[in-house]
Amino acid sequence: MGPILFTFIAVFALVGFAWFTYRKLTIIMSLEPEVRWDNVGARIKKVITMGLFQSRMIQRELKPGIMHTMIFWGFMILLFRKLQLFTIAYNELFVYPGTLGGIYASLKDLAELAVLIAVGYGFYRRFVLKPKRFEPNKEAIVVLCLITTIMITDFFYDAFKFAIYSDTVEAIAHERSFAFIGSALATLVSGISPEWQELLYHSMYWIQILTVFGFLVLLPIGEHFHIVTALPTLFFGHNSPLNKVPKVDLEALMGDDDDEDGDEDETEPSVGINTAKDLIWKDGLDVFTCTECGRCKDACPTFLTDKPLSLKWVNDSLKHHLMDNRENLLKDEIEEDALPTLVGNVISEDTLWACTTCGYCESACPIELEHLSKFYKMRQYMVMMEGEVPDELQVAFDNYERQSNAWGLNSDTRGDWAEGLDVPTVESPEQVKELDYLFYTGSAQSFDNRNQKVAKAFVKILQAADVKFAILGAEEGSTGECVRRAGNEMLFQELAGTLVETLNSYEVKNIVTCDPHAYNSLKNEYPEFGGNYNVIHHTQLIEQLLAEGRISVNATFEKVIYHEPCYLGRHNGEYQAPRNIIKQVVKDQPLEFEMNRERAMCCGAGGGRMWMEETIGTRINHERLNQALPQSPKIIATACPYCTVMMTDAVTDKGKEEEIQTRDIAELVAEALV
Ligand code: SF4
Ligand code: SF4
Repeated sequence: MGPILFTFIAVFALVGFAWFTYRKLTIIMSLEPEVRWDNVGARIKKVITMGLFQSRMIQRELKPGIMHTMIFWGFMILLFRKLQLFTIAYNELFVYPGTLGGIYASLKDLAELAVLIAVGYGFYRRFVLKPKRFEPNKEAIVVLCLITTIMITDFFYDAFKFAIYSDTVEAIAHERSFAFIGSALATLVSGISPEWQELLYHSMYWIQILTVFGFLVLLPIGEHFHIVTALPTLFFGHNSPLNKVPKVDLEALMGDDDDEDGDEDETEPSVGINTAKDLIWKDGLDVFTCTECGRCKDACPTFLTDKPLSLKWVNDSLKHHLMDNRENLLKDEIEEDALPTLVGNVISEDTLWACTTCGYCESACPIELEHLSKFYKMRQYMVMMEGEVPDELQVAFDNYERQSNAWGLNSDTRGDWAEGLDVPTVESPEQVKELDYLFYTGSAQSFDNRNQKVAKAFVKILQAADVKFAILGAEEGSTGECVRRAGNEMLFQELAGTLVETLNSYEVKNIVTCDPHAYNSLKNEYPEFGGNYNVIHHTQLIEQLLAEGRISVNATFEKVIYHEPCYLGRHNGEYQAPRNIIKQVVKDQPLEFEMNRERAMCCGAGGGRMWMEETIGTRINHERLNQALPQSPKIIATACPYCTVMMTDAVTDKGKEEEIQTRDIAELVAEALV
């Protein structure tokens, strides 16, 4: 078919592919090391479920998910077709022999038809449906056109080949008897003159070959590099809870100035991420793998409220930054100031502090690209190395430091909310052994008037169910969850150390809390600091008490809509317990936000945002309330003290307090108790 020309094109394209891939791979390899190949079984499982079966893609968006899966599997099947076409360059009439070869010819036609339908749907979405998350993207359109070209030229290549050779070459006749689309098209073109058939037969072949190899070179240049890197990215993904802040070794940072040989270590100790050189290699792989699909923006509270943050934009800026600074990144010794700082040059400070750490973007990304760990580390650098913190956050840090709560109220009064409720305070390990649970109240429910009512309601439930519990009272301290997510690891470790010491001194084993943030920290982060407890959220305990018949409730309320706390749902997978409770206290069907469960939108208070002014775009809590209004709820049910404050504020700001109440699920149950 033209072996010399084919060989020239193939070598040229392969060199191009290798060159552009090499440029990106060397950047990835120049970044910080981190082991991402432990627990191989779990990693392979993720590659199979999320990669080969595209599970997250389909679960999140059925039609686009099916569209992508059809293209993915079409590509897999058509790899063998490309091998056949490459062989044809050297042996023009080569076909896969026998029945298997015939079956493959049918499968190939089916795959090409499926890919064409999927690509048609892709065009329809891009030009007709235009989902909000789509941004103008020339590369996506070029790639859709390239795929269409490959499919159509292949069908017509078969058509002309069959028309010319199936009567005279047995192997081609055999292939034709299976390739149902090529065969039908061959009948259609059989009336064309032999000269034109010959010309079009060669044209179809070479147009396809040029398109395939052009696509190959384009892959490592743009966002479609994910065709090569997506499966490895899934394999090397983090194997830890979604929202686990990278621990900083403070002892190494503060103490030892000597290196292993006892010589004075002249390198400045550093923490977090300042420049691109501080990124880990997986961060580099992530940014080069981002498909720019925009799924991470759908329920991102910052994107929906016009703040300058979405994971897609961050990845895009970082990708260009890494390419622009490639030379410096590859040097063994980088001169000081050779690399620009990321915050201020690649992302703005507003972008850094806008994130509520809700985790939507990571859980929505079909290839699980990572976001939070990068942002936590950049915040750590800003706070601990630069001391650059938004003013309101600094006030909160100072308050935590002095009184172990963000309000700055006297820590000795922490247990005052329980006065007159007959709530015992922990006194000894012997007493704790007799308890079912320690009720870790948390700062919000200890000091905030609105949330104290929730703590009191929960106490009423515990007493009604005869649960043996106690609180730490004035001895309780903050978990430090919020300061950790705001980058103040030093203060967090201080607070965590104190709380672990207190809990361990009383030999506490079982903890219940109404605060999903405390729940997340105590359960997922405290083991690293010597705190190993069985932690349960109050909705989980209430659900259990109802199921065991230890409390009963009347169907009391109407038009209740549940606002999902990110740290209970997305970060810890508890979606059902709150719903099971609500079902029992309502007279009608519980309402649901359109964005619920994994797709629920944050209230705007996570990641330290509770203590910061929201000056850009619209308010996140207002947007969340707007999403509830079409269903005319009477009650927004919450299960988190931050959500309670944020949704109450939104209702008040919008003057809806006569129509809508915000109530924690514990308050609903306490009121509905029989
Ligand atoms: S981060 Fe993930 S979800 Fe967001 S654009 Fe990139 S690939 Fe898509
Ligand atoms: S964690 Fe939440 S707020 Fe932050 S970028 Fe992701 S979706 Fe947006």
